[in-house]
Amino acid sequence: MIPTEPWFCRTCGGFHEELPLSFNAPAPEAYYEIPRAEREARAVLSNTHAVLDGARHFLRASLELPVVDLMQPFTWGVWAEVGAELFRLAHDPAHTGGHASAPRGEGALASAIPGYPQTLGLRVWIQPRPLGQFPLLGVLDEAHPLRLEQDAGIALERVQEWASAMQHPQA
Ligand SMILES: [Zn+2]
Repeated sequence: MIPTEPWFCRTCGGFHEELPLSFNAPAPEAYYEIPRAEREARAVLSNTHAVLDGARHFLRASLELPVVDLMQPFTWGVWAEVGAELFRLAHDPAHTGGHASAPRGEGALASAIPGYPQTLGLRVWIQPRPLGQFPLLGVLDEAHPLRLEQDAGIALERVQEWASAMQHPQA
């Protein structure tokens, strides 16, 4: 949350003074496809990674969109499905200790981000970062609107739109 000029919220018709600069998916979409009763047996889920059925590997990552006129980016906290090798690298202390940098890998976006054409399955690059930071992630498809926003940045009004919709999920 950052304090901003009061902004008009179209959902509740009032003004808000703080703006969340990130929204986070708690788990990959595929996790929710597992019946609730089977999740404990079939899924390993933490804040940073997930393994489903011992075979599918997921990393939590940050997709940053520059916000025009703001010093901080907006962050979609999303998940990417990656190969076992990248999954291991991202957890290797030799790479995450802050001295060496792991090579950039690729994966598939495993989160459905609202307000865009389908984002599930989009090819992405993933850059592991030092311990304590989620890897950075970016869309490879040059024509997808998410990629365009990633490159060109977004207006503050766009963030307010998302905040309006997500702060009042019942509306
Ligand atoms: Zn509101």
